[in-house]
Amino acid sequence: MRKFYFGPGFRVKLSSSNSDEFANSDKKDESRSFFQKKDPLVYLGIIILIIGLALLAYGFVPVRQANYQLLSQTVSVPLNQSQTFISADQAAQIAQPQFNGNASNVVCVSSSVGYTCYGQQFLGWEMVTSNSAKEYGGAMIVLGFASFYLGYRYEPLTIKKRELHSIRIRVDEDICIANAVCVNLAPKVFQLKKQTSPSLLAPLAYVVDPSGATNDEILIAAQMCPTGAIIIEDAETGERIHPPLPTS
Ligand code: SF4
Repeated sequence: MRKFYFGPGFRVKLSSSNSDEFANSDKKDESRSFFQKKDPLVYLGIIILIIGLALLAYGFVPVRQANYQLLSQTVSVPLNQSQTFISADQAAQIAQPQFNGNASNVVCVSSSVGYTCYGQQFLGWEMVTSNSAKEYGGAMIVLGFASFYLGYRYEPLTIKKRELHSIRIRVDEDICIANAVCVNLAPKVFQLKKQTSPSLLAPLAYVVDPSGATNDEILIAAQMCPTGAIIIEDAETGERIHPPLPTS
């Protein structure tokens, strides 16, 4: 017995052994626990949350850092020394003695006059924490929570399961006019009977393989049949699905 969903995103299930499992899937969805939600946004949110927490924790870890004080004195070094251009590091070496031993570190930047060098006095080591890690970590935690909540609450990336039906398909040969509309729409499901001997009667349609197309395609083929010769019924209840029975 085949099981299927009507509507977009349906899937076909041919085995009848798991029909109860499928039929009850919606109920199971409702009773899923927090971490059993399947929406990718939930998992993405958890990953972002973990990274954000790690980043935030790293932001509170003290790191040893050299503490320098910038000297007010600056030294200008020409870009060109002995007919050759020098680099910023070479300019720093040239400028170092001019700070009279007050600068433990010299940094040079290019300027209109060549290099302008700044002296830095080493004051000692200090323990600092990373504010940027705290900020990025906090932002990622908020983002992770938002992603998790959206995925858990709304499941926007998950195709919702739809009501399941088991169906039976047949062709009413009394009203089939053999125009092959159903064959064109679902050729693996419907075919015209082959004639074994010359006949004036047109070859009628019949069901070759009820699982040869998606359920939506079968339903469309049935709806497009000009005479309503394709009959779809609920296999479990016998209830007519298509064409609808006339109301009295
Ligand atoms: S579309 Fe309908 S009438 Fe045409 S061949 Fe198929 S079953 Fe027969």
